[in-house]
Amino acid sequence: MSAHLAPLNPAQRAAATAPAPVLVLAGAGSGKTETLIRRVADIILNGEPPDRLLCITFTAKAAGEMRSRLAALLGPERTPRWVGTFHAIMARLLIEDGAGVPGLPRGFAILGQGDARELLMQAAGIQDRKEASLLQEAVSLLKNGLVTDPRRLPRSSALSRFEPEVLAQAAAVLPAYRSALAGRQALDFDDLIALPVAAMQADPALAAHWSARWTEILVDEYQDTNHAQHALVRLLAGTPGRVFAVGDDLQAIYGWRGADVAHIRRFGKDYRAAPPALKLETNYRSTPTILRAANAIAAEDPEALPKILRPADPKAPPGPSITIREAPTAEDEGRGVLNWVQALRRKQPELPWRKCAVLVRASFVAEPILAALRQTDVPVRLVTDREPEPPKEVLAAIAWLRLAMSRSRGGKAGAHVWEPAADDAFRRACAFPARGIGGALFGRLREHATKQSLALAAAVATLTATPTERQGLEAVLGVAGEIADGVSRQTLGPAGALRLAAEASEIVERLGLDGKLGYAWAAALRTAEQAGSVVAYCDGAALGAIPGEAEPADAVQVLTLHRAKGLEFDHVLLAGLEEGVWPNWQAEQQGAIAEERRLFYVGVTRARHSLQLSWVRQRRDWAGKPSRFLAEVPKALTETGTAYWQAKGSGSTSRTAAGRPARPVKPPSQAETDQLVAEFTARKAAKTLR
Ligand code: ATP
Ligand code: MG
Repeated sequence: MSAHLAPLNPAQRAAATAPAPVLVLAGAGSGKTETLIRRVADIILNGEPPDRLLCITFTAKAAGEMRSRLAALLGPERTPRWVGTFHAIMARLLIEDGAGVPGLPRGFAILGQGDARELLMQAAGIQDRKEASLLQEAVSLLKNGLVTDPRRLPRSSALSRFEPEVLAQAAAVLPAYRSALAGRQALDFDDLIALPVAAMQADPALAAHWSARWTEILVDEYQDTNHAQHALVRLLAGTPGRVFAVGDDLQAIYGWRGADVAHIRRFGKDYRAAPPALKLETNYRSTPTILRAANAIAAEDPEALPKILRPADPKAPPGPSITIREAPTAEDEGRGVLNWVQALRRKQPELPWRKCAVLVRASFVAEPILAALRQTDVPVRLVTDREPEPPKEVLAAIAWLRLAMSRSRGGKAGAHVWEPAADDAFRRACAFPARGIGGALFGRLREHATKQSLALAAAVATLTATPTERQGLEAVLGVAGEIADGVSRQTLGPAGALRLAAEASEIVERLGLDGKLGYAWAAALRTAEQAGSVVAYCDGAALGAIPGEAEPADAVQVLTLHRAKGLEFDHVLLAGLEEGVWPNWQAEQQGAIAEERRLFYVGVTRARHSLQLSWVRQRRDWAGKPSRFLAEVPKALTETGTAYWQAKGSGSTSRTAAGRPARPVKPPSQAETDQLVAEFTARKAAKTLR
C-alpha cells in the first residue's frame, strides 16, 4: 500500500483502489474529495504519467485547492496538469487539440458572460438588459440540455422556471446567435462543453482520440453535472467506463442551472461494469452537534438516498450548540457579524481570519455585512457566483507572456518554433495594444495556418501579405521574442516575467498603480508569485485559473453558497435566513423548496467547530419571518443568541434573549444517534415503498 493511502480509513481505501468505473456516494465531510485526491496520488506513484489523469471539479476555487493538495502530496513535477473545472479543461483541450472539431476557429476567442450577452442582444434585437439576462439563461439551458429540436423540450425543473414565451424566444434566436458567435470566431462558456460533445457524438474517431488521452477521469461533485457535462464524461470515459466519480445527492444545488441529480442515481445504468455505489459513513469535519443538525435536515428531504453522518470519534465532545441570531435590521446583522468574528479572535488570537466564513443565499445579503467589516481593519474576501473577469489589460499582459513562452528551439538547426497551444494568446497579443491588425488579415492568417498545420505565430513567416501587414504581425513576434529572451537571460520567476511582458508590450503604461486597474494588476502579480515557475503559471493561465480579484493572504470569507461547496471552515455563520430570501421567494412556486433545503444542508455542513444561524426582522422594506429551515434544526441543539449587533466585550458566553446563561447542550448519546438513524431509515423505507 502506498504511503498516500495509509491515512485513509478502510472504506475510503477500498474506494481509492477499486477498479473504475466506480461511484462513491457519501455524505458531506466523509472524505470524498480526500479519497479522490489520494487515489490520484496513488495512481501516479504507481508509475502512471500525471498527464494521463483528468480531474474535474466544479468551481475554480475547488480546483485550485485540489491542485495545491496534489502538489503538496506529489511535488510540483508530478502534479497532474489536467485539474480544473469542466469549462477550463475543455477550453484547454480545444486550444491544444481542437483541430478535429468541425467549425472550430483557430485561436478562437472565449466570450465572457457580458460580451456574450451583448451579442445575444444584437441577435435577438432587444435592448433591455434584464430581459437579455433572462434570455441568456434560457439559451444557456437549451445548450446545456443539448436541445437540438426546440419543439421537443426536455421536461426539467430548470426549464419550467421560464415562461413558455421566453423559451420559444430562446429557441428562435439560437441560430442567429450561433452565427453571430461564428462571425466573431468566438465561443461562449456553454459552447466549451456543448461543442465538443456534439463533435464527439458525430465523429466516433474524435471521441476515441480524446478519450485515449486519459487513463482515468475523476469527477468531484458528480451530483451537479448537467446534461452536457454528463454526456461529456460518458464520451471521454469510453466503455466500460474509466471513470471515478464522487458525490452526494443531498448536496445537489445546481438544478436551476440544468444540473440533474438523476445522473448520480443512474450511474449503474450508464456504466454497467460499476459495482453498487460505495459508501463512506464517517465524518471527519464537524462536531457531533453539527452532524446531528445535518442529519435532521437531511431527513426532511423527501427524495434523498438514506445516509447518516457519524462523527469519526464516537467519544468526541458534542461541541458548542448552534446559536440562532435575530437582528432587527440588515445593518444590525452586518454589525453582528463583525462582533462575532472579533469575539472569535479575542477568544483565540491565533485564529486565522480565513477560517471564519459567512455564507449567504444571495449577494445582496452580503452587502451590509461587507460594509460593516470594511469599516474596520478586519480583512474580508467576497466570493460570489459571478467570478469577476480580470480587466483586458491584465489578460493581455498574461497573453503576451504565454505567447512568449510558447516559443522554443525545436526547429531545424535550433530554429525557433511556436506552439499552437498559444494561438489564443497570439490573437490577444495582436489585438492589444492595438497595432491595426484587422479581422480580415487575421482571418487570412488563420486560413493559411490551418492549411499548413502550423501555429498562428509560425504561419506569419509564409503568409502572403503587404509590407505593412507583415510589419504589424512581425512586430508582435519580435516583442514576444524579446520577452522570451529576457525571461531566460534574467532567469525571472513568474511575477518578474509577467512584469517584463507588460513592459515590453507597453501595456504597463496603461495599468497605473492605483484604482481598479492597479488593484487587479497587483492581484495578478501576486497570483503569479505563488505559481512556482513561469511554465506552471502559463499553464494555469491557459486553464483560466487567474482570479480577477486580489486574494488577501488571510481574510474572513464571505461566500454565496454555490461557491462554498466542497469547502470547510472552523466557524460558519449563515446569514439572511428569512422566508423569501432563503428559501428564495420564487422557490415555492417553482417547486424548488427541496433544493433550497439542500443549500441549507450544504451551508450547515461547511462548519467544523461552530455554527451560527442569523435572520433579520426588517430587511430593506420588507418584514422578515424566520426561515422555515430554522425550525428543522432540533431545538435540543440550539440556543438563542444575545443582541449580537450590540455585543461588546468577550461575546464568548452565550446568553438567552432573557439574559440568562444558555443551558448547556446535552451531548447526543450513542443510543440517541442510533435512534435517529433507525427513525431516519424507517422513514426513508416507508417513502421508498410508497
Ligand atoms: P463535501 O461533501 O463537503 O465535499 P467531502 O466528502 O469531500 O465533503 P473532504 O473534504 O474530503 O470531504 O473531507 C473532509 C475533511 O475530513 C477534510 O478536512 C479531510 O482532510 C478530512 N478527512 C477525510 N478523510 C480523513 C481520514 N481518513 N482521516 C482524517 N481526516 C480525514
Ligand atoms: Mg468534497
